[in-house]
Amino acid sequence: MTLNIGVIGTGAIGQDHIRRCSFALSGARVVAVNDIHQDQAKKVVSDLGIAAEVYADAHELIEAANVDAILVTSWGPSHEEFVLSAIRAGKPVFCEKPLAVTAAGCKSIVDAEMAFGRRLVQVGFMRPYDQGYRALKAAIDGGRIGEPLMIHAAHRNARVGQAYATDMAITDTLIHEINVLGWLLDDHYVSAQVIFPRKSSRALAHLKDPQIVLLETARGTRIDVEVFVNCQYGYDIQCEVVGETGIARLPEPSSVQLRSEAKLSNEILVDWKDRFIAAYDVELQAFIDAVVAGRVGGPSAWDGYTAAVTADACVAAQRSGKVEPIELPERPAFYAPA
Ligand code: NAP
Repeated sequence: MTLNIGVIGTGAIGQDHIRRCSFALSGARVVAVNDIHQDQAKKVVSDLGIAAEVYADAHELIEAANVDAILVTSWGPSHEEFVLSAIRAGKPVFCEKPLAVTAAGCKSIVDAEMAFGRRLVQVGFMRPYDQGYRALKAAIDGGRIGEPLMIHAAHRNARVGQAYATDMAITDTLIHEINVLGWLLDDHYVSAQVIFPRKSSRALAHLKDPQIVLLETARGTRIDVEVFVNCQYGYDIQCEVVGETGIARLPEPSSVQLRSEAKLSNEILVDWKDRFIAAYDVELQAFIDAVVAGRVGGPSAWDGYTAAVTADACVAAQRSGKVEPIELPERPAFYAPA
C-alpha cells in the first residue's frame, strides 16, 4: 500500500518533508498540500514536479477522500486546530513541534485522541530517531553505566536573528532537550530553575544569552543544559550522562579528521538542518511504516503535552529566578510506551 499524504504548511520544513516523502522515503506519496500562501504551495508542487492537488482550505484537505494521513508543518499557533481536525476525521497525523503553543491546547489534543480510542498523533520530536541518541540510550538501558545520576548537556547555535527572544531559548531550543532527555531516562521532570551567566557581548540587546537550565526528574536525576545561541563557532549538541559506574557521552557527528598545516582537526557543523538530517528521514519513515501497518507510534501527544508543561515551568523560572515545580498528572495507560 502507498500512503497518500496531505501536507499543511509548505514553508522550510514542510518543503523538506514533502521532498523526503516524495523522493527519499518509501511507501508514501504527497497527494495534497495547503499553505496560507496558496501561490507558495503551488510553486512547491511545481518545483518538485509532484502530482499533488493544492487546497485553499486546510480542513478540506484533511477531509479529502484520497488523503490517508496528514503532516502538519505550518506555523506553530495553527497546529492545534489542524491536529484536532485530523482526529475528528479519524486520520493519522504527524505534527511538527510544538503540538500546540499552550499546555492547555496540548491537553485538549490528548483528550480528543483518548476519546477517539486509539493513537493517531505523532509529534515531530526527531532526536529519539538520531543514531547517536539511540546508542546512548542503549548504553544506559543496557546497564553499562549503572543508574543515571546526572546529565550535563549543551545546545549551542552559532547565532540567532532579531526575532529570537529570551523565552525562545526554552520554547524553540531547549524543547528538544526536554523531549530527548526525558526519553533517554524514561523519566519526567519535577522542577526547573534557570540561571543567567554573564551575558555574551555577541547577543542582541534584548536577549539573555547564554542560559543554564537546571532540571530535576522524578527519580532525582539532575540535569544541567547550557543554551547558548550566539556561540559563534557552530551548531553543537552535547550530552554526557553520569551514572553510578561510568559515563556515557553522545557521539560527535562523524567528520574527516585532518592532519594539516600543523594541526589535528575535525570540522564542526554550522547548520542545525545538517546535524539531524538522517533523524528526520528515520522519524518520517517510521510514521509512514506504522500507519501502513495500522498504528501510530513515536513521540506521542502525551509527550507533546508534558514537554509544553515543562517548558512553561522553565519560562516561569526564567522570570522568577526561583525553582519552579513541574506538576504533571500520571501518564494514562493509553500512552504507556510500546
Ligand atoms: P515556516 O518556514 O515559516 O513555514 C510555515 C508555513 O506555514 C509558512 O508558509 C506559513 O505562512 C504557513 N502557515 C502559517 N499559518 C498557516 C495556516 N493557518 N495554514 C496553512 N499554512 C500556514 O516555518 P518552518 O521553519 O517550516 O516551521 C514550521 C513548523 O515546524 C514550526 O512549528 C517549527 O517549530 C517546526 N520545526 C521543527 C523542526 C524540528 O527540528 N523538529 C525544525 C524546523 C521547524 P507564514 O509565513 O505567513 O506564517
